[in-house]
Amino acid sequence: MPVTQPIYMDNHATTQTDPRVVEAMLPYFTEHFGNAASKMHVFGQHAEQAVKNARAQVAHIIGAEPREIIFTSGATESNNLALKGVTHYYANRGKHLVTLATEHKSVLDTCAHLEQLGWEVTYLPVEPNGIVDVNKLEAAFRPDTILVSVMLANNEIGVLQPVQDIVQRCHARNILVHTDATQAVGKLPVDVRELEVDLLSFTAHKLYGPKGIGALFVRKLGSRVRLEPLQDGGGHEQGLRSGTLPVPLIVGFGEACCIAEREMTAEAERLLQLRTRLWEGLQQNISRLLLNGAWSPRLPGNLNVSFEWVKGESLLLALREIALSSGSACTTMDSEPSHVLRALGLDDDLADASLRFGLGRFNTAEEVDYVIEKVATAVHHLRQLSSASGET
Ligand SMILES: *Cc1c(COP(=O)(O)O)cnc(C)c1O
Repeated sequence: MPVTQPIYMDNHATTQTDPRVVEAMLPYFTEHFGNAASKMHVFGQHAEQAVKNARAQVAHIIGAEPREIIFTSGATESNNLALKGVTHYYANRGKHLVTLATEHKSVLDTCAHLEQLGWEVTYLPVEPNGIVDVNKLEAAFRPDTILVSVMLANNEIGVLQPVQDIVQRCHARNILVHTDATQAVGKLPVDVRELEVDLLSFTAHKLYGPKGIGALFVRKLGSRVRLEPLQDGGGHEQGLRSGTLPVPLIVGFGEACCIAEREMTAEAERLLQLRTRLWEGLQQNISRLLLNGAWSPRLPGNLNVSFEWVKGESLLLALREIALSSGSACTTMDSEPSHVLRALGLDDDLADASLRFGLGRFNTAEEVDYVIEKVATAVHHLRQLSSASGET
C-alpha cells in the first residue's frame, strides 16, 4: 500500500478527531443545540441528558464517579484549576509544593505563578532515564508541603512516573497528589481508585476527541478534595467552573473516551509493534543515535531519539512531508532546547539533535517504513554536509 503524504506522526501534540467522534457530535450543533442548564424545556433537557451520558463515559475511562468530573477547556485549564484551586483553598495548611522538572509547561508555569504569590516550589530533577527517584521525592517533603504534582506520562519522552508509589508516600503525610495524565488516558489503563490520586487532568484532543474540552477529576469518595474556583459566574460544574457547557464538545469527549477504552488493549499492542519496528529500523540504518528516556515503562506510541551531529530543525526541514517534532531550540516555543531533554542531562547539541515520533491510531506499518528510510537519508545527507564544511 503506497503511503500518502504528508504523514502525521506528531500525536503527542494533538490527534485527529476520530470520524466516529465527529459523527456523534454533529446533531448537537443543530437539532439538539439546547443549553444544558435550561431545565424547563425539551431543548435543554436533551442537552442535559447528553452531558450526563458523556460525563459517565469520561468518568468511566479513569474509573471515577461522574460527579467527580469537572469539565474544563482542556488540560492546561485543568492543571491551572488543580494547582491554583488547591493551594488557595488550603493556603492555611502550608505553602510548599513539589513537582518535577520535566512537567508540562502548564504545570511549571502555574507553579512559577504561585511562587510570585508567595508559595514555595521544589522542582525535582529526574534520573537520566527520565523517571523520578521516589526516595528523592520523599526527601523533598516538608512539614508545610500541601501538594505534589507529578505527571503520569511525559509528552516528550513518553516515560511513566511511579504515581501510585508517590501517592502512598504523600498520603502518609497528609499531602494531596495531582497528576497530569493527559498523555496516558486512552492509551494505557488509568484508574483513579487504584492510583488513589486526589486530582487528575486530561484532555479530549490527545485521545482522538475535539480540541477545547478537557476534564479535571476531583476526588469525592473517601476524603473529599476542596478547591477554590478560578472564575466566577453561573456556578456550573459544582461551582468550580462557571460557563455554559459546550455540549457538542462534551459529547465528542465522551464518545472518544468510549472508543479509546474499547480499543485500548489491541491498539496499545499494535502501537508497541510499530514503535519497535521504527526503533529497530532506525538503529539498522543510522549510526550514533541515542534513545531518550527509558524504553520501559513508556507510552506505546512514543519514541524520542537524538541523532549525533545533526540539528533537529535541519532534519525537520529535510523531512517536510513528515509531521514530527524536535526538542531543538528553534522549534520549541520558548526558543530554548527542550527542558525535558535537558533534565535528562543531555547537552544543548544532543537536545537540538532530537526527534519525537508520536505514533497514533491512524499510522500504519508502511508509514513507519517510509519514515525510517526518509530519516536515514536525511541524517546521512546532513552529516555529509557538516563533515564537508569542516564542522564536527
Ligand atoms: C497537551 C498536554 C497538555 C495541554 O493540554 P491542552 O488540552 O492542549 O490544554 C497538558 N499536559 C500534557 C502532558 C500534555 O501533553
